[in-house]
Amino acid sequence: MGVGLTRTRLAVAALLGLGSWLGWPGGLAGADPFPNTDMRGADNNQHTFCFPTGAGSVPARSRPNYTGSMAYLDTATALFDTLIATCNGNTDVLFREVDITNPPGTRGSYSCISPNGAGRCETSRVDIDVAQIFTDTAVRFPGAGQPFTDNFNINMLKSIRHEVGHSIGTNNDGTSFIDMNNLFIATGVDVRGCTVSGWVPTELRWDLYSPHHIPEINAFY
Ligand SMILES: [Zn+2]
Repeated sequence: MGVGLTRTRLAVAALLGLGSWLGWPGGLAGADPFPNTDMRGADNNQHTFCFPTGAGSVPARSRPNYTGSMAYLDTATALFDTLIATCNGNTDVLFREVDITNPPGTRGSYSCISPNGAGRCETSRVDIDVAQIFTDTAVRFPGAGQPFTDNFNINMLKSIRHEVGHSIGTNNDGTSFIDMNNLFIATGVDVRGCTVSGWVPTELRWDLYSPHHIPEINAFY
């Protein structure tokens, strides 16, 4: 773990609570630099990804959520994605599915495993805890009028895009979805997005990057 290695967890920002919300207007005004605090941007706007073989290899049935999350970069941002058949030292994102035990309840994690000399990240690892997302979907959003698989897949997309967001330079939004929604209702400014940590209600479908972040991302790339 060298200098510049960044590791974040979905659960962290949820603990920040109202204090962060009170600080939010500064962020809205564009005061937050990009890449966000403690984050490295990707080395360029071609965002390559792969599925490593061996332990944690993403099964074929699960891969559409990953390819879909990466393809979303093409439609939403100035980045574009490329699937690399065999991972190599220049691949931007290595996806794995693993049981993340620390802290409990973590749905996904990101780490830059190969920072480059320009202060950006050459290669990063994104781990997704599918069992945790499955459990969250079952326990925290039961019987909500749409198929379980729909809710599950939306939450998979949310978590994958959240971690991919780290790989391109966004940090956790330290504002809960409830506070964000209240702010949206009060001001009409939509800051809701998948960079919120932890659980997001599927009916709101915040599996997208927020209108706040997209211009920052695009200006950087
Ligand atoms: Zn995060």
